[in-house]
Amino acid sequence: MPSRDDASKAAPRRPPGARPRVLLTNDDGLWAPGIESLGKALDPLCELWVVAPDREQSAASHAITLARPLRLHPVGERRYAVDGTPTDCVYLAVNHLLKDNPPLAVFSGVNHGANLADDVIYSGTVAGAIEGAILGVPFCAALSLVGRGRLDFTAAADFGRAMLERLLETPPERPMLLNVNVPAEPRGRGFALTRLGRRGYGASVVEKTDPRGRPYYWIGGPEQAHADLKGSDCNAVLDDGLVSVTPLHLDLTSNDALAALSNWSLPRHERR
Ligand code: MN
Repeated sequence: MPSRDDASKAAPRRPPGARPRVLLTNDDGLWAPGIESLGKALDPLCELWVVAPDREQSAASHAITLARPLRLHPVGERRYAVDGTPTDCVYLAVNHLLKDNPPLAVFSGVNHGANLADDVIYSGTVAGAIEGAILGVPFCAALSLVGRGRLDFTAAADFGRAMLERLLETPPERPMLLNVNVPAEPRGRGFALTRLGRRGYGASVVEKTDPRGRPYYWIGGPEQAHADLKGSDCNAVLDDGLVSVTPLHLDLTSNDALAALSNWSLPRHERR
C-alpha cells in the first residue's frame, strides 16, 4: 500500500478506472460540423465535455466577456452552449464546470478554414487552445481544416484522435500548446513539425450605403500567396499537402528587438 507521499508523487489526476477528462470547444459554434466530427472521434477515448459558443465566433481572437453576464445552456450530457467567445467557454469549463477535476487536454476545432501563419492572432479556435494553456491544462491543441466550401472533417478529426491516443499512452513531459492545420485534400497521411509562416490578406474596405442613407463598411480581403519559407506551416500544408503541427508559446517578447534596442533612448526619460 503506497504511503500518502507516494500517492501524491504519482499524482493521478483522476480516480483509478475513471476516464481522462477532455474539453472540446471551437469558434464556429456548437452546431458546426467540425466540432461534431472531432467530438465523435475523441469521445470513445475519454470523458468528453463539449463547451462551445452558441453561434459562430470566428476571428473573435482571445476576447473574454467581462461587461455582461454569460449563460451556460446545457444541451445534452456534458454538452453546453455559451453565449460568449471560445475563451469564455474554456474559462467557464475549467474554472467552473470541471473545477474539481480539471481536464487533461483541451481540443479546439475542427475549424472550418485555415489557421496558418498570422491567422493565429485573429483566430478564436486558436484562442480556445491558448486559454487552456493559460489555465494550466497540460495539452492543448487547435485543429483547423484548410479548405473552402463543403468540407469533410473526417481526416482532421482522426488526426485529433491520434494526438489524444498518443497523449494517453505517453503523457508529455512538459505542457504542450499545438496549432494543427490539416489540408482538405491531404497527400497521404503525413505530418510535419513546423513554425508559423507568413501569409497576408489583401487590404479591402468596401463602402456601401444603408437604407437610411448612412455609409457602412465590410472589411477583410482575400488570402494572398504565402511566403516560401522552408519549415513553415504554410509550405507544409499548402505546398506539400501535409498536416502541420506548430508548437506555440505565449511569450510574445522579441529577443531580436530587445537586442537591437540596446542603444535606444528617449528625450526627457531616463533608461534604467
Ligand atoms: Mn472559425
